[in-house]
Amino acid sequence: MTRTPVLPELPRPPRARLRAAALALLLAVACSEAPALGQEAPRWKTHDLARPRPPVVAPAPQDLPALPPSDAVLLFCGQGLEAWRSEKGGPADWVVADGAFQPAPGAEDIVTVQGFGDVQLHVEWAAPLPAAGTSQGRGNSGVFLMGLYEVQILDSFENDTYADGQAAAVYGQYPPLVNACRPPGEWQSFDIVFRRPRFAEDGALIAPARVTVQQNGILVQDAVPLLGPTAWLQHLPYEEHPDRLPLSLQNHGSPVRFRNIWLRELRESAEPGPPEGGTQPAVSLKAEQLERCAGRYRPGGARETVYTVRRDGQQLQCNFFWNDAYLDLVPLAEREFALRHTAATIVFDADDQGAVVALTLRIGGSTIRAEKVGAGE
Ligand code: MG
Repeated sequence: MTRTPVLPELPRPPRARLRAAALALLLAVACSEAPALGQEAPRWKTHDLARPRPPVVAPAPQDLPALPPSDAVLLFCGQGLEAWRSEKGGPADWVVADGAFQPAPGAEDIVTVQGFGDVQLHVEWAAPLPAAGTSQGRGNSGVFLMGLYEVQILDSFENDTYADGQAAAVYGQYPPLVNACRPPGEWQSFDIVFRRPRFAEDGALIAPARVTVQQNGILVQDAVPLLGPTAWLQHLPYEEHPDRLPLSLQNHGSPVRFRNIWLRELRESAEPGPPEGGTQPAVSLKAEQLERCAGRYRPGGARETVYTVRRDGQQLQCNFFWNDAYLDLVPLAEREFALRHTAATIVFDADDQGAVVALTLRIGGSTIRAEKVGAGE
């Protein structure tokens, strides 16, 4: 069995709220917000032993430990547990030895000193060797994202248990797509992408948490929407919590070893961009001004490639390709144009008599000059 984490120093959700909302969420997730393709919507009772076990897949050898990228927050690199504390306060009292750490008998769960929201998390762990116990009693631990949402750690190598409780399960909710466990004693990896739940200002749930997991380089959770915080024997409803909460590791009584834990904090919203609709005209040109630019242009060095510029009413257009696609050229000045949806400009060059003789296309850091070789269509 897996215990619900207790984080006494953290804001606890008001328990009275949202029983009805929980039911609505379950229905919404099951009916309309289906998990990603290939991962069935939850319809089994929690811990149903009749639920099919994921197929076993033997992972390929990996180059572990996987070194962290430059922007990673290092949570354990083989030395001390300064990035962690006991969940009830005070220093983390798990045992560090030989570049790894494991729970001390009877120790509390540990939580990170720092809180996190959306993350890419790398964890390496090894189930105890020799293996001892059966089912949930063999090599049980867990990674609790935000201290609330468990990705199960278990020695699931030739160790049967209920499908939604085996290694890499979202505990009690989603079995892994496959059983990708290595034998006990061998280091294995979790690479987790976690998107925290979003709450409105009034505390209502806007979007459930989502988690993607690779175990030993194999996809085992595919952006599944979590039903709520991890609990044993029940589904608890989402209740509003802070945007950043500590990550925790579970002491379930098994000497599961950990090493090389790091994460990257993910951008939580899209970068602001320019307004929709693309580039708008800066000037209004007469038909004869546009007509002057029409023609066929051959880029320097090209034998067969030709850009074709044409006027369609009050719109100048250019075809760059072998197909029939003509892209609008948005006028910025008399002989300067931009593509509407691509960051590119075209400037037409004229001779002393004002006749257009060439164009210069600037796109993606490149400059292409094309001489006029004929009239337009
Ligand atoms: Mg567990």
